[in-house]
Amino acid sequence: MRNYFYLWRDKSKLIDNILPRPKQHRKISTPPIMLGYKPFGIPKSVLESVTLLYDEYESIRLLDYLGMNQEQAAEQMNVSRPTLTRIYEKARKTIAEAFVKGKMILIEGGEVSFDRQWFRCKRCYKLVAGLENHTKCRNCNFFSNDELTPINE
Ligand SMILES: [Zn+2]
Repeated sequence: MRNYFYLWRDKSKLIDNILPRPKQHRKISTPPIMLGYKPFGIPKSVLESVTLLYDEYESIRLLDYLGMNQEQAAEQMNVSRPTLTRIYEKARKTIAEAFVKGKMILIEGGEVSFDRQWFRCKRCYKLVAGLENHTKCRNCNFFSNDELTPINE
């Protein structure tokens, strides 16, 4: 009976060891204001693209734009320092490829979570933080919540 009890008690531990750990979501405070970047001087017919994930974009924003050190950026994104370094290196590599090869950069996806619900207007691409902040803008003749694409998923 005692053994049985122990077995039951340790079940959660057992499951922890067998199942792969769910991937930790990287925390992003603000999504990028644009969908991506396009080089000019490259014919559309031969234009290729690379994908920069949201967490990779965030690493560039925190380290290169805001000038944080890697410890600070890792803490902000809720990841370990080595993980942050990997994310950042991949971001730099992707941007370098786009820059040297004249490719377009699409910014999307990744194992991320935003600190609040974000939307993008389908018409003017304006970023909206939370439905309550969706107000009619100059570019939006039609105005309804249907025009918002959720970014968070
Ligand atoms: Zn709009």
